Amino acid sequence: MSDNASGQTEAAAPAPRAGRTGTLYLVGLDGLSPAVIAELTALGDLPNLRRIAEQGCHGDLATLFPTESPIIWSTIATGRLPDGHGVDGFQHFTLFGRRISTKTFHRLKHLGLKRPLRLLERMGLFHRRLLDMRDLKAKRLWEIIGDGGGRVGVVNWWNSWPAVPINGFLVSSRLHYWRAMAFGQMTDASRVIWPPRLLKELGGLIIPPDHVTLEELQRFVNLPEEKLGKFIDAKFVHHQLRGELKFLISADRTYSQLMDGCLERFPDLTFAALYLRGPDIAQHCAFDYMPSATHSERSPEERSRFGQVVPQAYRQADEMLGRVMARMKPSDTLLTMSDHGFGWMEKRGKYGHARGNPPGVLYCIGPEFKAGARIENAGVCDIAPTVLRLCGLPAAQDMPGRCLEELLTPEFRAARPPLPRIPTYGPPRPTAARPMAENRQWRKASRTTCARWDILIDAGKGVTEEKGSGYFSVVGKVA
Ligand SMILES: [Zn+2]
Repeated sequence: MSDNASGQTEAAAPAPRAGRTGTLYLVGLDGLSPAVIAELTALGDLPNLRRIAEQGCHGDLATLFPTESPIIWSTIATGRLPDGHGVDGFQHFTLFGRRISTKTFHRLKHLGLKRPLRLLERMGLFHRRLLDMRDLKAKRLWEIIGDGGGRVGVVNWWNSWPAVPINGFLVSSRLHYWRAMAFGQMTDASRVIWPPRLLKELGGLIIPPDHVTLEELQRFVNLPEEKLGKFIDAKFVHHQLRGELKFLISADRTYSQLMDGCLERFPDLTFAALYLRGPDIAQHCAFDYMPSATHSERSPEERSRFGQVVPQAYRQADEMLGRVMARMKPSDTLLTMSDHGFGWMEKRGKYGHARGNPPGVLYCIGPEFKAGARIENAGVCDIAPTVLRLCGLPAAQDMPGRCLEELLTPEFRAARPPLPRIPTYGPPRPTAARPMAENRQWRKASRTTCARWDILIDAGKGVTEEKGSGYFSVVGKVA
């Protein structure tokens, strides 16, 4: 089973068949914190999370350390720990032609080798790029369920680029590419979405950062219109409010709209997943302006200007969750969760997420879940076994988590006893995706041009299922 490249092994161990009536939705909301949710629901906000809490199950979700999003979201999607899924951070490092781990890279930096590494990078002996789908060593839920005959859809999950053929749709995490490109990611236009025809059909739903309106910005920041213009003109700056706001608003709105558009075109899915990153970025930029941020020394005036950034990011995420919930039929089920919370880090003297910080949250609703149950002792490793159980599939022995049986109704458990675990689902099928080139020009282009989507869409019209149209070379020329 471990060698998926060989058809023989596949034939010897056929994939377990998926089976459920109704769609199982998985909505990932990065960084959603139990304390902030409690604060906002007490004010009557977040109606959709409140509804799940009343009619389904909710509680904290224990997480991993380090609390780095790509690692944890890969654990959620594979049921495996980082050693098993292969994502150990944000980047892929190669030194003298051999891969080194993120931990080794940080160790070398701490040993004072930052400058030698930079030199080696210039000499071409040290390389780094952002991790992507090809670095995953374990199958993710949509691959397992798709292999089991289920129809699946995925929007914006971590490391989902390049979009490879699946039994349904896949909108990769590099479709809204502006912020990603500021990190030097280069995207291959033919593989941002599967099936590629969706780029033509749904391209109009993509919102470039420069198209965020003043009205939208005003929901986040309390500033006069003339000052808001600076937020529209701003260049990307990592975790800085002015440099991030239009990117986080436009990216989440884009992916939420694309989820809607795809679900419209792909009815009767077994499994559909959506991931939104806005709340995490908003917290990195503006947690210390919140009224409850007692460790911060922000003035009342600053708090009145920017104190709504985080609450509004939560409200936006809740609204987008509501758009998925509005589609749910009585037989559909939804799990929504965050990978970690957010809070004061004593050692670092700032707000963030690290060891000992608030866990994430888990909210579940559907016919299999008890109503009004409180979730206890759940962790990020338990999501995949639980989802598989609800899709009629066994967990694997290499998944350290468990199915959250105590949340399921006695009727469901009696009708569908748990299946014995299989040894492993193995690695994903190898992809023929081309290696990703990275160069400084792309980085420059992403910093200087934003309103080029019209050109991209025109160029994207030439995208075929087989080949890219060179749509990014158009951006290069324009820049
Ligand atoms: Zn995160």
